[in-house]
Amino acid sequence: MDKLQGGSFGGVDDLYREVILDHFKSPHNKGKLKNANTHSEGVNPLCGDQISVMLLIENDSIKEVKFEGHGCAISQSAASMMTDVIKGRLIKDVKELSATFKKIFGIEDPEYTTTAPLDEIGDAVALEGVRKYPVRIKCALLSWNTLLESIKNHEKKEGSL
Ligand code: ZN
Repeated sequence: MDKLQGGSFGGVDDLYREVILDHFKSPHNKGKLKNANTHSEGVNPLCGDQISVMLLIENDSIKEVKFEGHGCAISQSAASMMTDVIKGRLIKDVKELSATFKKIFGIEDPEYTTTAPLDEIGDAVALEGVRKYPVRIKCALLSWNTLLESIKNHEKKEGSL
């Protein structure tokens, strides 16, 4: 048993590691993306987190990404970290990276498989400590799930042309 209910400061430190707080205080790629060609909104009612992900997808890759939102430090820093990771990457790689990110919480993605190593997800690996706090995993996953929705919305549009 770990000290989940122990209320130790060690546990809190683990949850809010410095890199997480840095992204929360100074988020990367936050704001409106005027030339976005797809977007999606995500909410995590358990915690009150909201994320909007805006993408410019060109040539099967994420040309630009921005997010807006509010909520807890985990959800907002996860979104900031995610934008750093996915910018400029191919859609198929981004899907794989989302599966890698889920893996750090012990979640196997039913839709996408991954062979991408952990260091490919950059700062996002700092969220690994959230694994010990199951209710907060939804906070960490919110931006990535919203991202995947946004990509799907784009694929639907392309498919209907
Ligand atoms: Zn949250």
